[in-house]
Amino acid sequence: MTEQFKTYDIVMIGSGPAALSAAIYTTREDIDTLLVEKGVIGGLAATTDWIDNYPGFKDGISGSMLAEQMRGQAERFGAQFAMAEVSAIVDEGRLKRLVTSDGDIRARAVLIATGSDHKKLGIPGEDEYYSRGVHYCATCDGAFYRNKKLVVIGGGNSAVQEAIFLTRFASKIELLVRSELRASDVLLHELENHKDKISIRLGVTPVSIEGNDMGVTKLHTRGTQDGRSMSIAMDGIFIFIGLKPNTAFLKGSPVALDDVGLVTTNSQFETTMPGVYCAGDVRSGATMQIASAVGEGATAALIMRQWLERSA
Ligand code: NDP
Repeated sequence: MTEQFKTYDIVMIGSGPAALSAAIYTTREDIDTLLVEKGVIGGLAATTDWIDNYPGFKDGISGSMLAEQMRGQAERFGAQFAMAEVSAIVDEGRLKRLVTSDGDIRARAVLIATGSDHKKLGIPGEDEYYSRGVHYCATCDGAFYRNKKLVVIGGGNSAVQEAIFLTRFASKIELLVRSELRASDVLLHELENHKDKISIRLGVTPVSIEGNDMGVTKLHTRGTQDGRSMSIAMDGIFIFIGLKPNTAFLKGSPVALDDVGLVTTNSQFETTMPGVYCAGDVRSGATMQIASAVGEGATAALIMRQWLERSA
């Protein structure tokens, strides 16, 4: 970190669309802002292949390009970035202290915008073969599977969208759905156009992943209703079964979480720790859409500006 123990007006934890949008608003008003990121700048959005429903791009835009544009815009106004992992927020009254993997940072106000990560199946072989056949990001790893046979797990928007994307590479895709397809009508309609490569199997639950030194070879499943065992030969498996909020660092802190671990806020995006705000996919009640995260980030930034003025 450039200047350890420096005090910022605002520190944002995360650098996805919510934080980047908030940072555009705060830095444009000369509010000294640092974004602390432990993974990829742009968050989950940056690893999304194609974003078709973000306003302003009539033909859609790639996730990496959208993230790059937002980052450039925030940097133009003076946003600063630090690569580190935050492990705790300590309320010191007027200041909040963030304990990070690269030293402590202090801020007058904090925005939690850590988003959510991909959920895991939690079955044997999943961790063992991670990135050797088991993947959670089609944009990052799909190109390894040219003319190969893939399995995609999940029945929501992510699984259907990413399965369609993977048809660019794979020769055959089995889309395995535990209960029923829950994707939007638009995506389900598009799925129909890829029947040549994608076969859908409903009511199938993954049980274990088998492989060898070269990578994965088979997925073992059971019928969700009838319990019938089945094995599917494959070269790779992509898992899209929902999102898990990145809030482990808040467990046991005064920042309250809901039943699924999302941060609870009042209507002003304020958490249960005064001066600590939250926006985007990590916030309880969020719609998990990039456009909404951007709106929440902008709104939180304006509210945080008022907080800084009040507590000056
Ligand atoms: P969802 O929560 O919408 O769907 C999860 C899917 O995974 C369900 O089919 C669920 O099955 C299945 N699943 C969960 N756990 C398991 C398991 N252990 N084994 C097998 N299957 C399992 O998650 P998504 O990641 O699809 O989407 C997350 C959010 O992001 C949603 O709000 C979605 O709308 C949004 N999104 C929007 C997009 C868009 O607007 N274009 C694109 C991508 C995501 P079951 O139904 O049986 O529980």
